[in-house]
Amino acid sequence: MATLKDVLHQHVREGDLYEKMDRGFVRCFACGHCCPIPDGQVGVCKVRFNEGGKLYVPWGYVGGVQCDPIEKKPFFHAYPGALAYSFGMLGCDLHCGYCQNWVTSQALRDPSAVSPPMAATPGELVEDALRQGARVLVSTYNEPLITSEWAVAVFKEARAAGLATGFVSNGNGTPQVLEYLRPWIDLYKVDLKSFDDRHYRELGGRIQPILETIRRLYQMGLWLEIVTLLIPGFNDSDDELARMTEFLASVSPDIPWHVTAFHADYKMTSTDDTCPETLLRAAEIGKRAGLRFIYAGNLPGRVGDLEHTRCPECHELLIERYGYLISVYRITADGCCPSCGTKIPGRWAPSFQGQITDVPYLPRLRRRAGLVSIASGTRN
Ligand code: SF4
Repeated sequence: MATLKDVLHQHVREGDLYEKMDRGFVRCFACGHCCPIPDGQVGVCKVRFNEGGKLYVPWGYVGGVQCDPIEKKPFFHAYPGALAYSFGMLGCDLHCGYCQNWVTSQALRDPSAVSPPMAATPGELVEDALRQGARVLVSTYNEPLITSEWAVAVFKEARAAGLATGFVSNGNGTPQVLEYLRPWIDLYKVDLKSFDDRHYRELGGRIQPILETIRRLYQMGLWLEIVTLLIPGFNDSDDELARMTEFLASVSPDIPWHVTAFHADYKMTSTDDTCPETLLRAAEIGKRAGLRFIYAGNLPGRVGDLEHTRCPECHELLIERYGYLISVYRITADGCCPSCGTKIPGRWAPSFQGQITDVPYLPRLRRRAGLVSIASGTRN
């Protein structure tokens, strides 16, 4: 019987993001690891591999699809109320012990991560997204950087159909992959997991490529939001949060920063859940650093004003939220505060046409011969 590795190695094509080296090695540029890979071996992510001196990369399948309110990604300053059609492949370049998407991200690394792939074409995904009423197509669930060639193929079709596109990513990028994505991507969420290189090394990465990616994404003009899952005892000290938010504010005080509450998952089951007070404390630290848009997530109704968007100048309520539900929307057609006229940074639709859904649901992707099943469940 074919293993998952056998199946995935049939769904590949030659990659774009690599160079040939001496002695049959290749160097991959899809993520900050920049793996040199000998012939016959895989990279750290285990889904890109060298065969005969060529780099082969994932192609032609999804590990899961789902329609979500865009607030769930979370993007709070991009098309509020829109439906985001999420798709993901398998594999990741990190191995976070608390991953909420570990079934797809840790496939091929962890034998208990079993997530059957489903064959798909870019056209089918876009058609399905349009049928469900999506406004945005988002590559997520696994680390999308390591499957960038496939994402670009899907995004080209999405753009042609009038959809916006986005990544939900750990931000472990390279200049090469960001330039490759740049023409085809509108929105980028980076999960900034810590501001300590030692913590990043525990997760299998380094902090430097992530900070450089954040700077570069902002300079490129992509719409950027940052999320930090606050894990008690791991990344929630005042000092670390102060350094993190000072860095973000130095890139731009207009970058929205979401602090979200951890709950036990995957291998991290004995750490306490994050309490609302920790989110409020982090938000205060971010405010002191100069950030103008700070949101607290995963604890709806328990974080005071921190689910809403207010004008940073006159403090007018612009968007009121409860979890993913928008209850008030007052941003003008040209993206300004209706009270004082301050421009609110983001990607705003000319008019708010209500919220298509405030709960995630599974779209119906047509089954094809050779498909295994559509992954189910709620994901980020
Ligand atoms: S995507 Fe990253 S981990 Fe995977 S082969 Fe390329 S450089 Fe290595």
